[in-house]
Amino acid sequence: MSVKDHYFDIQQRIGQACKKNDRNPHAVHVVAVTKYVSEERTQEALHAGIRHIGENRVEGGVKKWDALGDSGTWHFIGSLQSKKVKHIVGKFDYLHSLDRLSLAKEIQKRMPEGKQLKCFVQVNVSGEETKSGLNPENTIAFIEELRQYPAIEVVGLMTMAPYIEAEEVRPYFQRLRKLKQEVEKQNYSHAPCRELSMGMSNDFEVAVEEGATFIRIGSALVGSRD
Ligand SMILES: *Cc1c(COP(=O)(O)O)cnc(C)c1O
Repeated sequence: MSVKDHYFDIQQRIGQACKKNDRNPHAVHVVAVTKYVSEERTQEALHAGIRHIGENRVEGGVKKWDALGDSGTWHFIGSLQSKKVKHIVGKFDYLHSLDRLSLAKEIQKRMPEGKQLKCFVQVNVSGEETKSGLNPENTIAFIEELRQYPAIEVVGLMTMAPYIEAEEVRPYFQRLRKLKQEVEKQNYSHAPCRELSMGMSNDFEVAVEEGATFIRIGSALVGSRD
């Protein structure tokens, strides 16, 4: 199936999920996760009208950006080693995996003067040891500390739900939404925190019902390999 056909189907499903909770479908941005697929398939996604491209590896991501960078908005969604920050600066617009101050410090060092990287703070809402991200209890204190890095704008929170039945992940998404509301209440100028990056191929409808504004979809949209 073409990306266009998959995208059409996903948009229908987003529409249905939005209806349930009276949300505006335009508030839900689809990030096409192209980590498994070729440059050609990524281009197909852009041609299908998808604006947001997500990659989780520096090497593969930068290679695609070099070919197609001008035609989309680029999201770095995987864990990022501090020493590789320099490769994504100026190319990727969003980082979905900010989870430690050492990474924030390196971003501060590498960003051009006066520019900001839009960051999601990654939260480990399920507490699974294999998942990265902050403990929910430490999230607000962490965000407070980010104030010292003006190159970072905390646009929202991100989580990866456990890989279980879609309906069972709902409490994790709800937890992230509540945490986001708590951050918003702090009125930090460096952390407006209006966005929620949650939901993937297997659970995006539940994520949309629970308030996701960026959903990261790979296999159900562009496929898992060419
Ligand atoms: C791979 C990946 C996705 C997309 O996964 P699918 O199940 O293929 O939709 C989303 N988010 C992150 C962080 C990923 O690494």
